[in-house]
Amino acid sequence: MAKSRIELDICLQSPGKRAGDALLRWSDNANPLGVYPVPVACIVGKPGPTALLVAGVHGDEFEGPVALSQLIEEIIPDQLTGRLIILPAFNAPAVLASQRTSPLDGRNLNRAFPGDPDGGPTDMLADFLVSVLLPEADLVIDLHAGGKASVFATSALASRCDNKQLMQANLDLAAAFGAPFTWILGGFNDTRSLNAAALNAGVPMIAAELGGGGGADPIEVANAVAGVKRCLVHAGIISQNIPQAAPSLYVETRSIADNIYAPVAGLFDRRFQAGDQVEKGQLAGYVRSLDRLDNAPIPLHFSATGHVLAHGNRGYVVRGDMLAMLVCETEI
Ligand SMILES: [Zn+2]
Repeated sequence: MAKSRIELDICLQSPGKRAGDALLRWSDNANPLGVYPVPVACIVGKPGPTALLVAGVHGDEFEGPVALSQLIEEIIPDQLTGRLIILPAFNAPAVLASQRTSPLDGRNLNRAFPGDPDGGPTDMLADFLVSVLLPEADLVIDLHAGGKASVFATSALASRCDNKQLMQANLDLAAAFGAPFTWILGGFNDTRSLNAAALNAGVPMIAAELGGGGGADPIEVANAVAGVKRCLVHAGIISQNIPQAAPSLYVETRSIADNIYAPVAGLFDRRFQAGDQVEKGQLAGYVRSLDRLDNAPIPLHFSATGHVLAHGNRGYVVRGDMLAMLVCETEI
């Protein structure tokens, strides 16, 4: 397999706290001979497990980047039995542009794994994580949110798999994180995601969804900081007294046909919140025309009973936009 073309300018091994960059060399008109730096922090304490903490895979989701920046500031090497490798803005070009996909090649990083060292910049980043960072990791946490386009109920995402030990490790991390919902990723999990890459490598991992809207809600940031710390306590990397979270509700996607997508363009007059429990037949909202103000609004109803894990965050929607993402309670 070809070697990663991305180089780190800091050491990940020696004790202490340091910050540097992964140097993404991508020659284009804006930056012919320079690099696109991807910020990396490394905190190494006494020998122990390694946690790889990632945020900013999508560049318009800022709760995770702020939470990981707080942890980099707060945690000192003397507190650690193990090591933290932290990338708060992994898709740095997208984060700097406040946009979901990379401005360098238009690609979605969470649909690019396992990546390719000889591909474009997004493929190179995915490959760097898989070939350089993942082999160093005993656990991975990847923080997401709804971004500009959507709002999620606070949730941890854990992959279902045939390897019972790995699946239990994923569920244990989700329980430690302590979000109200644990979204079990099964057949609908995209095989090009970071979760799928960790699954293939046999490394325990959760992702998280932390609200949304494109900013950094302070309650969601605090949830993320506490959740990550509880995972680090669970892994034996730090020892802190952090209040336990309430038990999480296991949910999964039964069918994407349970979601509500906009049937026509118009204003979406929403009648529910992310996290709500809803019944089959319940009114979800109306699409109101701006083309003809005397057109009757189009009512939309939930086609299944469950919980709304996320909703779209656009006031004016077009045909096909996600308006509600429905999940059902599930057994493990
Ligand atoms: Zn995301």
